[in-house]
Amino acid sequence: MTRVALIAHDEKKPDLIEFAQTHEAQLREYELIATGTTGKRLQEETDLEVERKESGPLGGDLMIGAEVAEDELDGIVFLRDPLRAQPHEPDISALLRICDVHDVALATNHSSAEFLIEGLAD
Ligand code: PGA
Repeated sequence: MTRVALIAHDEKKPDLIEFAQTHEAQLREYELIATGTTGKRLQEETDLEVERKESGPLGGDLMIGAEVAEDELDGIVFLRDPLRAQPHEPDISALLRICDVHDVALATNHSSAEFLIEGLAD
């Protein structure tokens, strides 16, 4: 089954929730994982089933990166906050890098996220 990770920085969590609600039917076709806080909000505010990893600052980004390294993940939607440096920036950079190493689709904004989840459906 297609496996997709959803992540959003705090400022972008409302956008990700809205994205997930809008595309709920499509996302239901996928196995979903998320970082801790993002996953909690998805569980509370949508009807989607989401496997939660640790929160980003506690290593959740790296746990998702490990799945990429093991070829278990097909795509990542990561709505990042471009205006604020995050304390766990090195982990985020590592996640982006491992996606490039393994050629795993990664969307970092709403428009590319739409392409990603539509593209994975094909
Ligand atoms: P969070 O982590 O969903 O636990 O907030 C996201 C991140 O900061 O990478």
